[in-house]
Amino acid sequence: MAIWNLGSINADMVYAVPHLPGPGETLAASGMERFLGGKGANMSVAAARAGSHVRHIGAVGPDGRWAIDRLTEYGVDTRHIATLEAPTGHAIIAVEPGGENLIVLLPGANRAISPERVANVLADAGPGDLLVMQNETSAQVEAARLGRERGLTVCYAAAPFDAQAVRDVLPWLDFLILNAVEAEQLQQATGLLPDQLPVQHVIVTLGSKGARYFDTKQGKMAEYPAHKVKAVDTTGAGDTFTGYVLSGMDRGLPMPQAITQAMRAAALMVMRHGTADVIPDLKEVLGARF
Ligand code: ATP
Repeated sequence: MAIWNLGSINADMVYAVPHLPGPGETLAASGMERFLGGKGANMSVAAARAGSHVRHIGAVGPDGRWAIDRLTEYGVDTRHIATLEAPTGHAIIAVEPGGENLIVLLPGANRAISPERVANVLADAGPGDLLVMQNETSAQVEAARLGRERGLTVCYAAAPFDAQAVRDVLPWLDFLILNAVEAEQLQQATGLLPDQLPVQHVIVTLGSKGARYFDTKQGKMAEYPAHKVKAVDTTGAGDTFTGYVLSGMDRGLPMPQAITQAMRAAALMVMRHGTADVIPDLKEVLGARF
């Protein structure tokens, strides 16, 4: 079976600067590195490295060929990534020596994906497949509705958080994943606790404290503690966690086992710098000692 990921693809351009620039200031950077990023791309790579067939539905601009090539190299099926007349989504990230950063994000092609394109692609999807989205692309609601119609398991990572975006897709969801802050924001917006949401599977991640899983249909909640590790960079931990949970579901694992694998993968991620480029594969995840 396949995981269809309607997901963002970004170029993360990281500039090393002596300090964060102030208003009107022109500042020379001492170096620049370009990484593959975007929550969508990160989740696709994680699920592919975990062993799933991931079909990424997305878009880049004419300058984005390298990102498609990199995703392909990392095992993602990229045939449904379009090249549009829009800039490739990118983040300009200035980082000062202490690690503090400043980010300017341009969604670009990620927000130019048309509902028609998504509908064309999902015509090949069917029961047993999973569909996942995050809040960094256009066409989320249409995709969610179509996914439900076609009998897919519809999953949503509510990040970056926007209450209206979650409300719009909520009726079509089977699975929702949020971090603790997002869960709090959703509760403020809807008045609903995670176990009261009209979605069968809800996971709330709690950073170094682990995660909670709610099966709202059965009225059950389970807690999963995180591994005690030395965290050096938590970027990408959440996306890796989500990609691994989805892959576990796709590979037919019971939820507790899928979460356990995801917890191990995310723990490895917080111990290293980088995002998509350094997501561990299943062999490394299963072999890791904490
Ligand atoms: P991100 O920092 O990638 O945006 P997030 O806010 O989406 O992450 P978190 O709840 O911070 O999500 O973390 C996701 C998962 O990563 C956690 O459930 C846990 O498994 C793992 N994790 C995060 N931080 C740590 C840590 N310090 N030690 C061990 N595991 C961690």
